[in-house]
Amino acid sequence: MVHIAWAALDTDPDLLYERLVAETSGEISLPLARSLSGAASKFRSWLHEEGVETRQNSKSTLPWDIVWPPRHSGSRGWLESQPRRIARELGPDLMMTALYTRYLADGGALSQGTRATAIRPATDGTGWLVTCEGRGAAELQTRTVLVADGGFQANSELLCRYVGPHADRCLLRAQPTGTGDGLRMLLSLRAKTVGLGRVYGHMLSATALTDDNLWPYPAMDRLSLKGALIDRQGKLIQHAETTGIGLVNLLASGRDPLGQTVVFDRDVWEQDGTDDPYGSPVPNPALAERHGHLSVATDIGSLAGNLDMSPRLLAESIDAHNHRPGSIQIQSPPYYGARIVPGITFTMGGPLIDSTCAVMSEVDGRIPGIYAAGSAAGGVHGGPRGGYVGGLGVAGTFGLIAGDSISDFLERSTAA
Ligand SMILES: Cc1cc2nc3c(=O)[nH]c(=O)nc-3n(C[C@H](O)[C@H](O)[C@H](O)COP(=O)(O)OP(=O)(O)OC[C@H]3O[C@@H](n4cnc5c(N)ncnc54)[C@H](O)[C@@H]3O)c2cc1C
Repeated sequence: MVHIAWAALDTDPDLLYERLVAETSGEISLPLARSLSGAASKFRSWLHEEGVETRQNSKSTLPWDIVWPPRHSGSRGWLESQPRRIARELGPDLMMTALYTRYLADGGALSQGTRATAIRPATDGTGWLVTCEGRGAAELQTRTVLVADGGFQANSELLCRYVGPHADRCLLRAQPTGTGDGLRMLLSLRAKTVGLGRVYGHMLSATALTDDNLWPYPAMDRLSLKGALIDRQGKLIQHAETTGIGLVNLLASGRDPLGQTVVFDRDVWEQDGTDDPYGSPVPNPALAERHGHLSVATDIGSLAGNLDMSPRLLAESIDAHNHRPGSIQIQSPPYYGARIVPGITFTMGGPLIDSTCAVMSEVDGRIPGIYAAGSAAGGVHGGPRGGYVGGLGVAGTFGLIAGDSISDFLERSTAA
């Protein structure tokens, strides 16, 4: 799905701007919201010009684009959309192949298997030296650098430093390439940072920690929000989260990210367990069919026994849950317990960029010639509270903005 703040990229820019401000609790910088909302439709047109097919979801009130054909589809059914990492005939892979092919055909240079590890000022004062390791090991001198490494979700040390003391125990719901080199390099240049403690992700079955068939889907968000969240001992975890992303952040920042079980009843299993507006695999029936953890019992005492919890504590917790204002009652047997884990897809904070994607210095103004885009950049999802405003749409739109800014920067510095 390609969207900005859950709206299509070709939505009226003023409406997109309002949505960006609202979704980030007003924490996005207004010039950043203005540039993102203003350029989003350009990114959509660019995708189509590059040969990427997207279709808008006409059933939604906010018809965002889907890269076509989708990985999951209600009509094909979840069984046919097994979580294969490579699926050459489906939209995401077709998109990447189209973009790579076009880039190379236009004479673009690409050095795969090469990792940028350091950026430092060039000794002659004209730009930067970038150290690259791996297949294309080299030291490159350049006037400008665009950092777009995708975030630091695969870096245990950075996760524990910024997200939570044990956030590295969460499931990495992504490729292991987001090792935070960009953040590390930009911190060494004294970049200002924002929102480093927050991540985007979904709740997943704890079995996903040992079985790849249980991630990235089915997401356990709805069950986790509707059911009672119980800790290892059987105590109710009181919280006020209303989204899966909120729950992921709550648990990822806590002392025991892996210690949670969600308990719910038949009604929730049959309604929320089967519901997904996007056509992706749902817990009921994917959880059982893929052998994710799921315990079922006709009474709470037996369920507690299955889950190694004190029957008394669990019964008290369910009672406390049922007495919480607005909670969905756990009252219709059979009762279910599913061990869950926060899955981190990408980190939402990073070095702060301005509306041109220039990286801001913690000392003063922009760091000249240094740009960031996508999940490597901070500010677009707001700060400490913020919200989630998109992945691909944000990365692509800021990629185009950064390209224009770099071109302007080079023109200006050549003219000077
Ligand atoms: C399972 C899953 C489902 C998703 N679904 C959606 C969705 O439906 N809609 C949506 O909007 N978003 C979705 N996303 C998120 C989306 O994929 C990301 O937001 C987006 O890819 C971020 O783009 P990026 O360019 O910032 O980073 P990436 O796409 O991660 O690209 C970063 C690149 O930099 C490379 N790299 C890393 N470190 C270095 C280094 N030191 N030197 C050189 N290269 C380096 C990496 O290998 C990688 O190729 C999903 C993500 C996952 C994992």
